[in-house]
Amino acid sequence: MSLTAFLHSRHGRGFASRARIEAHHAAAFRRFRAQVMPRSPFYRGMADLPLEALPRMDKARLMAHFSAINTCGIDRDRAMQIAIRAEASRDFRPLIGDVSVGLSTGTSGQRGLFLATPRERRLWAAIMLGRYWPELWRRQRVAFFMRADNALYRSLSNALVRFAFFDLLSPFEAHLPRLAELNPSVLIAPARILALLAERQAAGGLALAPRRVISVAETLSPEDAALIERAFGIRVDQVYQATEGVLAMTCRLGHLHLNERWLRIDRDVIDRATGAFCPIVHDFTRESLPILNYRLDDVLIPDPEPCPCGCASQRIARIEGREDDMLWWTSATGPRLVTSEAIRTAIACLPQALRDYRVIQRGAVLHLWLDGAAWGTEAALRTGLAAMARRLGCTLPELAFHHGLPPETGAKRRRIRVEPETPVSR
Ligand SMILES: [Zn+2]
Repeated sequence: MSLTAFLHSRHGRGFASRARIEAHHAAAFRRFRAQVMPRSPFYRGMADLPLEALPRMDKARLMAHFSAINTCGIDRDRAMQIAIRAEASRDFRPLIGDVSVGLSTGTSGQRGLFLATPRERRLWAAIMLGRYWPELWRRQRVAFFMRADNALYRSLSNALVRFAFFDLLSPFEAHLPRLAELNPSVLIAPARILALLAERQAAGGLALAPRRVISVAETLSPEDAALIERAFGIRVDQVYQATEGVLAMTCRLGHLHLNERWLRIDRDVIDRATGAFCPIVHDFTRESLPILNYRLDDVLIPDPEPCPCGCASQRIARIEGREDDMLWWTSATGPRLVTSEAIRTAIACLPQALRDYRVIQRGAVLHLWLDGAAWGTEAALRTGLAAMARRLGCTLPELAFHHGLPPETGAKRRRIRVEPETPVSR
């Protein structure tokens, strides 16, 4: 299966049609029902139910039923103990049998456990290597910035790869000498870290020459993508990956497609006008911890255009962000989703460019933090947003302008977000 995955990922032209995708899913789930579900005490009696009739899952429910859902007989509390000990010691080798255990905090702050068998680890590596390896005949140096190491990611290491893990919990500065010495040919990191590295590279503090730059694990904004591409002189690829699996990745033309070769992804549409949806994932590659009818709280915007790459897997215009970071403005027909794209367009149309900005909705007030604003910028932005609200048929909320950027921690560095109503300090 790994070799097939590798070849598909590297040379496959993808599915030719929606019908092919559906046939592929039907066959894959027939196998999954027959071979995997009977091994899960939780799903054993449900193997005949349609996928959408299975219990709706999210991280909390998956964790609540973890011991019964997994097919390895692993007890949740024991797995949690092992994972927490690994986090504390930064020694990520422990396995239960040959199953690796990992811990995710996720953006919602709740801790989740995940499992990976050797077969799942090989499959993950095959997909990643197949898709993103620059040249197979050359030994690659991979720098991988992750919050926590895990045997899952170690599976990349072999004779063809020098693989270096950079722990996101260590201070950023401490990584730079080792990174410069490694001079990675493949650079894999969350968008926020790639942006920091790009700033450093642009300022002359780094001289990396990666052949591939891959943004993982969090939303890559167009601003950061542009910054990274300018600094490294190559296109940044994107792997949209959660604990629940690799949900989408860029094709060779740089467009995001859902990973429909490994998952079936249904849509919980939250806004009809844009088609914005939260994905509901059914993964037929995950045998240790089945992920079925699992709703994520990320919002994706579909792109209805077929991709010139020829693959019929659903294109994604962008990963909009977390569901509770969506801006909803009032309109005559009910709440209307205001996309990050609409806000960015209003900001991009300003007569003078900003250094940076934050748009934070708190209750009924939209706070606009403008870094490097010139005289007249506020008035121009007010006019721009009012015009946008008119076009969308909704009411412009009250605006509050601020200079510079709000104090924030790394995890909160989302340019457009929603925060609880609290007094704002200037
Ligand atoms: Zn494509």
